[in-house]
Amino acid sequence: MSDTTAFLPFTKPTIDEDTIAAVANVLRSGWLTSGPNVQALEAQLSEYFGGRPVRTFNSGTCTMEIALRIAGIGTGDEVITTPNSWVATANVIIETGATPVFADIDPKTHNIDLDKVEAVITSRTKAIIPVHMCGLPCDMDRLYAIADKYKLRVIEDAAQAIGSTWKGKRIGSFGDFVSFSFQVNKNIMTGEGGCLVLNNAEEVRLAEKYRLQGVTRSGLDGIDVDVLGGKYNMTDIAAAIGLGQMKHLAEFNAKRASLAKHYFDCFGNDFEASSGAELPVADFEHSNWHMFHLVLPERIHRADFMQTMLDQKIGLGYHYRAIHLFTYYRERGFTDGMFPIAERIGKQIVTLPLFPSMTNSDVERVVSAVKSCLL
Ligand SMILES: *Cc1c(COP(=O)(O)O)cnc(C)c1O
Repeated sequence: MSDTTAFLPFTKPTIDEDTIAAVANVLRSGWLTSGPNVQALEAQLSEYFGGRPVRTFNSGTCTMEIALRIAGIGTGDEVITTPNSWVATANVIIETGATPVFADIDPKTHNIDLDKVEAVITSRTKAIIPVHMCGLPCDMDRLYAIADKYKLRVIEDAAQAIGSTWKGKRIGSFGDFVSFSFQVNKNIMTGEGGCLVLNNAEEVRLAEKYRLQGVTRSGLDGIDVDVLGGKYNMTDIAAAIGLGQMKHLAEFNAKRASLAKHYFDCFGNDFEASSGAELPVADFEHSNWHMFHLVLPERIHRADFMQTMLDQKIGLGYHYRAIHLFTYYRERGFTDGMFPIAERIGKQIVTLPLFPSMTNSDVERVVSAVKSCLL
């Protein structure tokens, strides 16, 4: 590595000049809040998800909270989710007054272990929030079989899964509620934002109310508020970014897959056996390759490893620390040892750089730095 080697972050958005111009046009137009760009983005997303209704919001987090509210979930209800996610996934359950119930994850896919879900269903269970971790979908057949059997709503946390597929069908094009995030790190972004795929016109009506203070309008001066809503609408500035990103979604995801393939080629077949580290599942059929992770062997201290990589101008992430071990969750009764797989992954996982403007030689630089630490 020479002094002139550029810092390689673990992720970075790709934004073209047309998108910058489109944002400038919104600013010049004088209409900055939700308007024609939001409507156009919702129409495009709906088409992308096979014609299902879609509404946009100002974050993936509020998108999931609104789905829970539409499903009527609140105080006294239990919602099953994974301890291995961004904390938002569990926080939204508590926001509605319901109780999060965790089921541990599968050590290979890092998704919720569906074998462990049925055991924690009670008469108070109303919904499941599975996460398609790093864009690798959960087993959708089994997930929806369990939901059907116990009459549970599903809110898919597909924040990371735009463009992922299950047996040839796009995530979002089927199922119950499907929530996406357009936060800057995601495969497409709007600065901040999210969208929800819904089932019918009644759910759309409720989504629009919850997104804007519970307001219903009629005529020029008619207004009523009959539910408690918030301020969750997307701006036209953000939607203009989203429209620009949508044009590149297929190309971004193809580039991510090609870089992921190169990671596997560079690590080689014997890397796991010789290092004790774990690579992701090499699923080039279903995943959108949102992230490429590495689970470090127990003998390696993660912070030291991250520092060594940083010294070589390589930025790593870690996705995620187990949610139930955060102070707020410990104060609600969760403790060490409850979900050992999520705890081990949460302590040892790192996210390697992966984003569309990276090159194969960037991948090679990362792999040789990892190998010099671990082998
Ligand atoms: C990004 C993300 C969220 C939150 O989305 P925001 O748009 O940042 O609110 C929730 N869950 C998962 C799995 C995510 O990756």
